Amino acid sequence: MAIREVRIMGDPILAKECRTVEKMTDRLQVLIDDMIETMNDQNGVGLAAPQVGVLRRIAVVDIGDENGTIIMINPEIIESDGEQCGPEGCLSLPGKQGEVKRPNHVVVSALDREMKPITIEGTELLARALCHEIDHLSGHMYTELVEGPLTDVEYADDDEEEQE
Ligand SMILES: [Zn+2]
Repeated sequence: MAIREVRIMGDPILAKECRTVEKMTDRLQVLIDDMIETMNDQNGVGLAAPQVGVLRRIAVVDIGDENGTIIMINPEIIESDGEQCGPEGCLSLPGKQGEVKRPNHVVVSALDREMKPITIEGTELLARALCHEIDHLSGHMYTELVEGPLTDVEYADDDEEEQE
């Protein structure tokens, strides 16, 4: 496993549509492991493949709850309802956050790393993280949805930082 460089907003790769994964390969397994390691290293709650420069529909999410690390291949939101508004950040835009409106509950259909179908249901922070990462796979950043100004994140202490 290795920590990969996270692309920063303005990098054209973050604005591109990702390709569907048709077949799991050893290379993609390594990518998934590296994405998890990179997310954890940066105290993120999620990471999408284009953020490490790979245009494939793969994302990982870990909000530190009982779901553990969720690996999503070709994820699609199949249900969403409710509404929440809260601060969102991104490893591709370090030190910034903004208020984003998201559904309060989503159901995601995806494949796991063995290419078996899975369904993930999330509310509140997990719903937010799932939407945020899936947006990356279509070349969208949360900044397109921010209401009001982007503000600087104030870190309370060393390992309090959480970004998506
Ligand atoms: Zn992000």
